[in-house]
Amino acid sequence: MKINDTQLALVDKQIKRILASGNYYSEVYKKAGITGVGSEEDFEKIPFTDKADLRNAYPLGIQAVPDEQVVRIHSSSGTTGKPVIIPYTAKDVDDWATMFARCYEIAGITKKDRIQITPGYGLWTAGIGFQAGCEKLGAMAIPMGPGNTDKQIQMMIDLESTVLCATSSYALLLAEEINKRGLRDKIRLKKGVIGSERWSEAKRKYIADALGIELYDIYGLTEIYGPGIGVNCLGQNGMHIFDDYLYTEIIDPVTGEVLPDGEEGEIVITTLVKEGAPLIRFRTHDLSRIIPGPCPCCDRTYPRLDTIKGRSDDMFKVHGVNMFPAQVEEILGMVDGVSSEYKIDIAHDDANNRDIIMVTAEAEGRVDFNATAEKIKQLFKSKMNVTPKVAIIALNTLPRSEKKTRRVFDHRQE
Ligand code: ZN
Repeated sequence: MKINDTQLALVDKQIKRILASGNYYSEVYKKAGITGVGSEEDFEKIPFTDKADLRNAYPLGIQAVPDEQVVRIHSSSGTTGKPVIIPYTAKDVDDWATMFARCYEIAGITKKDRIQITPGYGLWTAGIGFQAGCEKLGAMAIPMGPGNTDKQIQMMIDLESTVLCATSSYALLLAEEINKRGLRDKIRLKKGVIGSERWSEAKRKYIADALGIELYDIYGLTEIYGPGIGVNCLGQNGMHIFDDYLYTEIIDPVTGEVLPDGEEGEIVITTLVKEGAPLIRFRTHDLSRIIPGPCPCCDRTYPRLDTIKGRSDDMFKVHGVNMFPAQVEEILGMVDGVSSEYKIDIAHDDANNRDIIMVTAEAEGRVDFNATAEKIKQLFKSKMNVTPKVAIIALNTLPRSEKKTRRVFDHRQE
């Protein structure tokens, strides 16, 4: 998906606005000798922006408009260090709502719907994004925020909510509760709009079946407005991204090279009209690909991003091949009796000068461990083109963690 002339002109305008604003990036661009863009080559010379830069500019260093034009800030928490603060103008807030309303429309949601919003409100972009889009569309917002499952279900029944907005984890929890309490016949939900964390097909299917609803994935991140910059249409053929507001590239996360449509890599987004905190070539660290060709299920021409495959920080490389935890999880999900927990160790065999990949997975006692290891080895070979060594251990022997579990250990740099 090459940058088109309209998008180039908008980026040029953004660069000139940034330079005039004297903000953090005006200094970066001045130093790099960037004065504007007139071609795709110019565009690809612009350095990437990253969350780490935004922290350097804390709190309001990336603001590109005078204070009197800022109407709101949002913040994304990092796992480490300072949060990132993003200022919004009235137009930014309105543009975001317009994109979000479009997402609802693509999901077939109308003014007549009643949208129960369970993501959190506050500094987060979550709840308020779902709400503003709902109001822009003209539907009825039921602004619950997270938690209090009893009240959620009560409101869902009494107000006959037709749409549930939630994280996949919370949608799952509600689905389980509704089933457990035998309330399935009392709810009127038709659709679920789910924030774009990576979630398994099994979870998707459970939620869809348990609540009897269609599910839509919504994409977004705080640095780029928030959730609602893209959504999948009914056929599950990728998420449409709004290219009148955003230009999307896919890059090799290691080399930074721009990849052709269809190839998997890191999503990089340029805001074309954002005023408060314009970002050019922002590295999202989300992994996906642009699906080439027209959408098979609708006539919208917005480019499509495939399901998010994980984070580039979790990617690992063996024998020159990029691999993602999502691929490992997919393989393990195909083998009978194997749990979703695993550990991968990568080492270098100096004697033979090659990388060794060791997969440790758990299996139930009823299955044959040797045959299971062989199955996993074959699947790795056919799907990822590497042959690992595989160890099968008893269920519940790998460490579990409340937080994100570290699964990939690369011993090659040690
Ligand atoms: Zn479509």
